[in-house]
This record gives sequence, structure tokens and C-alpha cells, in this order.
Amino acid sequence: MLDDMFDYLEHIRERKVWQPIPDETRANFRAPLPRDPTDVAELHQQFLRDVVPSASGNTHPGFMGWVQGGGNPVGMLAEMLAAGLNANLGGRDHMPIEVERQILHWARALFGFPEGASGIFVTGTSMANFISVLVARTAALGPEVRRKGVNFGGKRLSAYTSASAHGCVAQAIDLAGLGRDSLHAVPVDANHRIDLAALERAIARDRAHGSQPFLIVGTAGTVDIGATDDLDGLADIARREGLWFHIDGAFGALGILSDAVAPRLKGIERADSLAFDFHKWAQVPYDAGFVLVRDGEIHRSTFAAPAVYLRRETRGLAAGPDWPCDYGPDLSRGFRALKTWFTLKAYGTRRLGEVIGRSCELARLLASGIEAAPELELLAPVQLNIVCFGYRCADPDRVNAAITVSLQEQGKVAPSTTTVNGKLAIRAAIFNHRTDERDIEALLEGTLFFGRRLAG
Ligand SMILES: *Cc1c(COP(=O)(O)O)cnc(C)c1O
Repeated sequence: MLDDMFDYLEHIRERKVWQPIPDETRANFRAPLPRDPTDVAELHQQFLRDVVPSASGNTHPGFMGWVQGGGNPVGMLAEMLAAGLNANLGGRDHMPIEVERQILHWARALFGFPEGASGIFVTGTSMANFISVLVARTAALGPEVRRKGVNFGGKRLSAYTSASAHGCVAQAIDLAGLGRDSLHAVPVDANHRIDLAALERAIARDRAHGSQPFLIVGTAGTVDIGATDDLDGLADIARREGLWFHIDGAFGALGILSDAVAPRLKGIERADSLAFDFHKWAQVPYDAGFVLVRDGEIHRSTFAAPAVYLRRETRGLAAGPDWPCDYGPDLSRGFRALKTWFTLKAYGTRRLGEVIGRSCELARLLASGIEAAPELELLAPVQLNIVCFGYRCADPDRVNAAITVSLQEQGKVAPSTTTVNGKLAIRAAIFNHRTDERDIEALLEGTLFFGRRLAG
């Protein structure tokens, strides 16, 4: 299995990024529940035959869709070791928990958070944002909100984020029982950064109407074009207004590892909470999201709940007052920390930062190729590693959507789409450490080829 997987990764460029799933293959996975055992070698053959060719392709250098990391072989091996230990990181006193705490120490150091800051691994930033909204809610209403519910204060809580924020921010507000209408989507400027004056007006208006502003969510690296809000400006407003300041730094926060990107993140050290993913720009295999909270006490008071079967001791396996299950909704938790520890140690943050810087350079290379081609246009300023562009023609939304699908089906490069200022854009998000100039060239060539055909 290991040999096959190393061969797969070594020769990935010779494969298609992705292939449509053949009907027979899909049907193979509508099989009845297996009552009798099957030889594992046979299962492995089926995995190679049926699963691998139509995997989502984000390990491939030509993959540029959505916002996805490329993974790495060291992290892959660590996943195997973690599965061998089969540790449950909900709590108790064992070394896997200390490995996770090591990552917490590093996260504090990276983002300039104090000793008392808490943090845990979660699936991804969607969950990390949700946890942060719940902590902000506790900060606003006190821990009794957990018994009485969000309406007991009588005032409606209101939250603020930019119109370019990821959809999981609204989802988090919704899941927290606050209702999506209590989240204001504040307009953005020409660089897709939140308009600070409009934010202040929205807060003042809500106070005048009797609601209780409690939370500002800034973004470090928006999902559609890679914009970063003025984090210092947001921190100033949050402090002045007495609001919780959360940052969705899903991919952008780890830009701190790159000398070229770090200056854009000024102010990140002032957040009350920060959500980010090791599985995107830092190339740790899925999934490895993280939530970091400045005030560990408020974080703990949002989730910790005494249970007779989770009694803490001073000695033995149940030793230690602080268990990860006190900091989030999960009790059973896997050993995500190990693949992250192996990745950070094996490559070092300097090298990971260089990968991040290089993906931004490749994005600039793509942008200059677009600017040099009269048939193409850039649809948003390129700020990090994401390029939104289109083929110029009479019916651009239809044609650009069709170009994207054709590229994916051709299998050399796989961008995705988004909408920028009302226009559908082909979006290339360069995250994979394997991507290089050849892939940028293939994207430009492929776009022109399909554009000419599809625009008629
Ligand atoms: C990817 C992303 C998310 C969601 O993170 P998951 O890890 O997919 O849950 C949220 N916000 C931004 C800006 C993202 O890029």
C-alpha cells in the first residue's frame, strides 16, 4: 500500500487532475453490506481501480479549484502512525494530548497570543468559526446563557462581518441560535476589504434600535479573491465598542509564515479568537483546522461541563484538570496534532513560508499572462494567491462557466468559479506546493483554447 501511494504521488503529474466517475464504478459502491470477510489485497486493488482515478485531485499540481491544500508525504505517514495508536484526544493524561498542546504553544507564538490563550484542533475553519461565535456569545451574556438561552437578556445580539466573508460565518451565527438576520454584511471597498466607516455606522444604528452589538468577524484572506481586512482598524473599533473580535484566517492566517505575506496580517495578534486551517496553505493532510482563543477561561466556560464519567484526578490516566473536550463540542477526537507536528518539524516553518510566498508569485505570473492576452481580463485585484479572471466575449457568464467545466473534464488543470461584482469569474486558487510555471501556462493555454471554441 505504501509503495503504491508513493508511486501515485511521484507520478501524479502524468495523471489527470480528476476524471468523471464512470457509472459502473459508482455502482460498485452501491453494494450490499458485507457479511463475510474479503481479502485485504483485493480491497486494495479495488481502491486503486475505483477510488484513485476519480479522487478530487487536490494533490495534483494542476488543481486550482476552491481553496484546498495539496497534503504532503510526511503528514501521510504520520496519519498512519496516528491510526496505529488510535488515540482518543477528548482528554486524559497521555502523550498525544501533549503533542496537541505543543501545537497550541506554537500557535500562540506564531500569532502573538498570550500564555493564557487556549486552542484545539477541529475539523476545519467552519467549526472553528462556530466555536468562536459561541465563545463570543458567552463573553457577551455570561456563562448563564448556556442554561437560559440567547434570548434571556431581552436584547437581540448583533454581529458584523464583510460582504466578502465566507458563508460559514453566517452559518455559525445560525447554528448558535442567533438567526442569520443578526449578522450584518458590511460593504467592502474596491480591494474587497471591509468598509470601516460603514461598520461603525451599522453598529451605531443597531445600538440606537436597541440591539446589543457583540461580535466583529474580520477575514484574513477572503475565499473569493484573497483580500485581507484592515485587522488593526477592526481591532480598534472592537476595543472602542467593547465587542469581541474574531478573525476568520482559514488560509490567510498561516501567511504569517511568509515574509512577503506577514505584513498584511498586522493586527492579527489583537484578535480575541482566530480560526485557521493547517490543511490549506500549510499542506497538512485533511483535516486539521484550529481555533485559538485569547482568554482561555472564557473559552473553557463556554464548553466545560461536569460529568461523573469524566471525573478528573491528580494521578493516573484521568489526571489533569484541562481536557480538550472542555474547549469544544467534541468528546471523541482524533490525533490531528501528529500529522501537523510531523509536517511543521520535517519541513520547518521557513520552508513552508517559502511555499506560501511562491504560490503568490505564481498568481502574479498568471495575472501578467492574463494582462498580456487581449482575449482575457482580470476581474479582481490579485492580492495573494487567488486570481479571478474571464474570457472576454458577448456572453461571458455562460462561456466562463463552460470553460471551467471543460478544463476540469480535460484534466490538465482544474480551476473553479466565483462571482465578483456580479460577474462570473474563473478562479484559480494556487495552494498546492507541487504547482509550478507549467501549470500556469496550461491554464492560460486551456482557457484561450476553450474560450475561442465556446464563444463561437
Ligand atoms: C476554507 C475557508 C473556510 C472554511 O474552512 P473549512 O476548513 O473548509 O471548514 C472559511 N473561511 C475561509 C476564508 C476559507 O477559505
